[in-house]
Amino acid sequence: MKYDGRWSLTAPDRSGGVLTRFLFFTMLFFSVSATGCARGFAAEDLSYHTYDTMLSELRRLEKDHPKTGKLHDLGVSSDGLTRVWAFKISDNVEKEEDEPNVLLTGGIHGNEPVASEMALFTIRRLLSDDSRRALIDKTQIWVVPMLNPAGHKAGNSHNNANRVDLNRNFPVDWTGDDLDAVEIELQNLVKNLHRRRPHVVAGIDLHTYGRVYLIPWAYTRKKPADWAAMKDLADKMAKTSGYRSLQLTEYLHKKIPGGAADYLYGRCGTFHYGLELGTSHALPVEQLGSLCRKNLPGITIMMNRVHTRALTGHVTRNGKPITAVVEVDGIDKPDNLRRPYMSDAVFGRYYRILLPGAYTVRFTFEGKKIVKEKVIIAGDRQTVLDIEFP
Ligand SMILES: [Zn+2]
Repeated sequence: MKYDGRWSLTAPDRSGGVLTRFLFFTMLFFSVSATGCARGFAAEDLSYHTYDTMLSELRRLEKDHPKTGKLHDLGVSSDGLTRVWAFKISDNVEKEEDEPNVLLTGGIHGNEPVASEMALFTIRRLLSDDSRRALIDKTQIWVVPMLNPAGHKAGNSHNNANRVDLNRNFPVDWTGDDLDAVEIELQNLVKNLHRRRPHVVAGIDLHTYGRVYLIPWAYTRKKPADWAAMKDLADKMAKTSGYRSLQLTEYLHKKIPGGAADYLYGRCGTFHYGLELGTSHALPVEQLGSLCRKNLPGITIMMNRVHTRALTGHVTRNGKPITAVVEVDGIDKPDNLRRPYMSDAVFGRYYRILLPGAYTVRFTFEGKKIVKEKVIIAGDRQTVLDIEFP
């Protein structure tokens, strides 16, 4: 059965009628659920969710994992009815801790339900798999399974209720703070998730389809300042699933402004990727489980990245946290197109994701500068460098 550009039971049907297609998928679902159980996989791994069944599943997961899972309401979506929900996974999940944040978003395009299922699958595995406990203990993981619930609910529309493609609608100027011109889903994501957490260090925006990891920028053919480390991470993730990794402009064969990866990297410093899953918008339900299992290792590598081969520490003055600019020679230049990395006001924490090697790092606060030469980034762990300004 071939996807014809519309994923709807009322779409023109070339495969024998609406009823046939409905019965086919119903039978497929029940037969696959049965084999799934026999193989030891939970049957719920292998079904598509509506907005309502997704929300009740997230509520159930929160109830079953009260110490590590918490549902956050990011706000109403463009239809005025549905809401965008973020699921946080961490130890001490009720608290905002001095830990790096990572982000996984799905369903920014409402006609890409595989992306929402990949996000939900990730939540379930993180909560239930003890081998990922160390990651949860030192990271605040945010998963937004349906970033465009209006599109999903309105019959799987690519766009939101205002017929806007959200992945072309992010602010194109991230030097300012103006979000008024963008759609409510994006305003809520940025205001209620990113701006309350200075260190969303890495992220993936899930899509279908293409079997490729996509790297900023999309609005310019220039390479990002952090290209070497970004491309290295993309290659490592892509290798786990046999996918490719490319810069967005290379993949799109043109420059496109307003994408999630550009804004979240340019404005927030997040190593943010697009991941085009699989080979179809409408993956048959019996293939959903294997696609999710195949792509989970890449997503986990992204979530773990900041705990290896990175520079971190606290910047203080008189023992109190301060917001200093943290620049790395050879990477940070006046024209590098993203905002500079800073330590945060609450903890004084900063992060820089780097490749192994020796670096010179500059910390600047109120015109004063502290330069640290030969900071060595090791291959397998974080390098900690705390700075106290006089
Ligand atoms: Zn998409």
